Amino acid sequence: QRILVTGGSGFIATHVIDVLVKGGYSVLTTVRSESKGQRLQAAYSADKLDFAIVPDISVVGAFDQVCKTGGFDAVLHVASPFHYNVRDPKKDLIDPAVVGTTGILRSIKDHCPNVKRVVVTSSFAAILDFALVQAGVVKTWSEKDWNPMGIDDAQASPMIAYAVSKVLAEKAAWDFVEKEKPGFTLTTITPPLVYGPATQGLSSLSSVNTSNQVMADLVSGKYKDGMPPTGIPLWVDVRDVALAHVRSLERPAAVGKRFFTVAGHHSHRDLLRIVRDNFPELREKLPESGGEPSKDLPSWGYDNSSASEVLGIKWTTFEKSTVDTVKSLLEISGEK
Ligand code: NDP
Repeated sequence: QRILVTGGSGFIATHVIDVLVKGGYSVLTTVRSESKGQRLQAAYSADKLDFAIVPDISVVGAFDQVCKTGGFDAVLHVASPFHYNVRDPKKDLIDPAVVGTTGILRSIKDHCPNVKRVVVTSSFAAILDFALVQAGVVKTWSEKDWNPMGIDDAQASPMIAYAVSKVLAEKAAWDFVEKEKPGFTLTTITPPLVYGPATQGLSSLSSVNTSNQVMADLVSGKYKDGMPPTGIPLWVDVRDVALAHVRSLERPAAVGKRFFTVAGHHSHRDLLRIVRDNFPELREKLPESGGEPSKDLPSWGYDNSSASEVLGIKWTTFEKSTVDTVKSLLEISGEK
């Protein structure tokens, strides 16, 4: 089976590609530059992984050429901007998310008749209702929930703009499938905060992906004077997210579903404790104590039963994820 993965140079996509290649699939991934493609390809043999350059997914028809030449059986659309360096929310986040998603679905429908399954990486940001959180409503979040925000909310903050980009992109994907009735089925993955080894070939910690930023800042000594508050208390390991993408291609019961891939709760207090216990060489850079006790964390319930049962994911513990992430960050910074 030949699989197209978009955004292969990204944090999550790198792990998705690894699961696919090790599972015997042939993969073509899109990247924004030749050098990013070369770097990825160096890790695998050319008959397992090749790449095509798609410089900007927000350009209409960006994936047409790849789809015409690829001979794919399935597509995993992972690429979408996840950062908060936003000047123009529409141009920087929303267009690449929404046009990127509808664009690839259109290209598949028009040019890839063999594709039967498509998996799109959405986000907990497409589930969480920020107004309910602010109002102190205690709730168990699941695939049934939708972030009600729209384009008019995007100016509020870069974080909200990102959330809007994700909910609009996911809704656009489901709408496309409903209206266009293409020859493929859709599955979406909606992870909360994703931690895990940064294997995307970073040359320094300054370019670490957004969700590993807190861990990178912690090991760089930025929190010596205190931990920041735990923003999103729900988390998941990147290797479980990658497996969820691939199993969504493989399992018939995954067709047409959204999967809330959550490992559990975590806090910056847990994070600090685990790093202090496992990396004594970092002690000088870490605060003595800190992070709010769990009774002060937002009490968000979650229901991950569908992802656990249908996809059979055994969730990685926060301890293991943290240790493996920190090891990878220390390697990047040249400290290991
Ligand atoms: P990364 O920033 O590491 O990956 C983002 C990928 O998208 C990169 O490959 C990037 O290319 C590509 N990309 C962004 N904008 C464009 C564009 N305009 N044109 C072409 N390619 C583009 O982040 P993650 O791996 O964390 O994110 C991957 C997916 O997972 C995203 O859809 C994100 O929304 C989603 N997600 C992530 C979570 C997390 O906690 N990490 C949680 C929930 C969802 P380049 O490498 O060249 O910059």
